[in-house]
Amino acid sequence: MRQQRMLIPTLRDVPGDAEAASHRLMLRAGLVRQLSSGIYSYLPLGLKALQHIQTIVREELDAAGAQEMLMPALHPSELWKASGRWDIYGPELMRLEDRHGREFALGATHEEVITTIVKDEIQSYKKLPVTLYQIQTKYRDERRPRFGLLRGREFLMKDAYSFDRTATGLDESYQSMYNAYERIFTRCGLNFRAVEADSGAIGGTDTHEFMALADIGEDTIVHCPSCQYAANLEKAVGLLPPSPSSASKQPKLDGRPKKVHTPKVTSIKQLSEFLPISPKQIIKSIAIEANGAPVIVLLRGDCEVNEIKLKNVLGASEFIMLSETDIQKLGSIAGFIGPIGLQNVKIIADSSVMGLQDAVVGANEADYHLVHVDVERDLADLAYHDLRNVTEGECCMSCGHQLSFAKGIEVGHVFKLGTKYSQSLGALFSDENGASEPIIMGCYGIGVSRVLAAILEQNYDERGIIWPASIAPFAVHLLTVHVQDEVQMKLSDEIYKSLSRAGLTVLWDDREERPGVKFNDADLLGFPLRITVGKKAGENIVECKERRSGQQYELTVQQILTHCQ
Ligand code: ATP
Ligand code: MG
Ligand code: MG
Ligand code: MG
Repeated sequence: MRQQRMLIPTLRDVPGDAEAASHRLMLRAGLVRQLSSGIYSYLPLGLKALQHIQTIVREELDAAGAQEMLMPALHPSELWKASGRWDIYGPELMRLEDRHGREFALGATHEEVITTIVKDEIQSYKKLPVTLYQIQTKYRDERRPRFGLLRGREFLMKDAYSFDRTATGLDESYQSMYNAYERIFTRCGLNFRAVEADSGAIGGTDTHEFMALADIGEDTIVHCPSCQYAANLEKAVGLLPPSPSSASKQPKLDGRPKKVHTPKVTSIKQLSEFLPISPKQIIKSIAIEANGAPVIVLLRGDCEVNEIKLKNVLGASEFIMLSETDIQKLGSIAGFIGPIGLQNVKIIADSSVMGLQDAVVGANEADYHLVHVDVERDLADLAYHDLRNVTEGECCMSCGHQLSFAKGIEVGHVFKLGTKYSQSLGALFSDENGASEPIIMGCYGIGVSRVLAAILEQNYDERGIIWPASIAPFAVHLLTVHVQDEVQMKLSDEIYKSLSRAGLTVLWDDREERPGVKFNDADLLGFPLRITVGKKAGENIVECKERRSGQQYELTVQQILTHCQ
């Protein structure tokens, strides 16, 4: 491809609001452009890299026996209501209406759709097991889209679903996907770890997250330097014995010694009896570990907060999480706190929750009863530091070695779902004896566009991107120093044609730009090999430079052909 004609709008300056290295690089190298918050277009170079990731994903999944298909992005609400997720998925689900007023969702994930297909098309054990996948655009109205492609609102995901007759079958399907993921991320050139994850509220048995190691990552990994053990922080903390230091920990947010309160109401269930909203609307609760700690009510904007992290940070016994809508329904916080004698309750509110001060009557000691925080950011940070203290010095349960920490980007997730969806949506199969059983499912996601960002987070220097060969938009950057020079152009053309014939992808910088601009762009774009045709063109000699090692050498055109094969 000739660069003159290609849309590669490189930028000299780093856009100020782009925090993540990958985001800055993608904008500077002209890989993507933002259309709206968390919504991006892929320009030609960005698309090529993305397609290389997709090819790797397809090759490995196909080799593992999975079958590709493609499902709609537009889902009728009835499906999500049938699984119960229309209500519980929350504001992250993008919802819309058609001209007849019928409700739809834009697919955030496809358990409902795939389960419906399998329910209709598979009735007999003879058709099982089967694993189906798609690579498709997903929509999630993330409260805080950020870091470019790392957390988008429209993003590309590979989602796969396995269907088995037995738990053992599911184990095999799961292991097969797990192994495929290891091959996929290795081929993508990622430094990653598969970690045990917390199955949380969904209540599955096994689940692993694949984490690309990077400081910008929003997840924390606990791993053992001496054995294979690796888990995400929530899982690791859940497994560790309670540490004496954490038990006596003060709540961190008020910076004041914790008063000992004895709330009259000590359980979520009990409390829910007093609430003018149904217990179902209490989004999640956490089991009581309480020893007289105050009940904490967390009022939230539409934010995603990890309850386990919160619990550790605050040393709290329980949480109730209310959305802004809940608060509006309640009218005032006093409306339920007052009558039940919870005067000493601490309220931690996301700073996005408006008009709270007025709502909180009877809980009015500023900065003590009512603490305003940017829940997602501050608590995530606090939780990280606090949990580090909790688990620092803890030893690996498998081998006794001291545990280490790392930050990671969740690039993939494998999950044993069980029969949650097959049961709610009626996907049953009949076994050899004609008995009807729910199909046992697993689900497996890869954030394809997030992988692209994660690759960049791990592969760059101060001059620009350093692509892994498997993902690079082009293998070779051929650079003609002076395009007016006929000898240089002729030799460049010869090299371009020979390399292309040999099956290599070549971007030929044939632009009429100053050599300095071309060299800078070549470093920024970061293809594995740069071949410069300059003043020694007359002698058939060109200069090669390897982007990663910085190694430079002169070669004859003949040698290049051999070198590149
Ligand atoms: P996160 O914890 O980062 O919000 P998730 O656990 O909600 O991710 P899953 O539901 O497990 O995500 O989706 C499967 C994969 O899709 C994730 O492992 C991740 O790689 C990718 N993914 C999820 N949300 C986003 C997003 N907003 N932008 C880009 N990729 C995403
Ligand atoms: Mg998420
Ligand atoms: Mg996650
Ligand atoms: Mg996940």
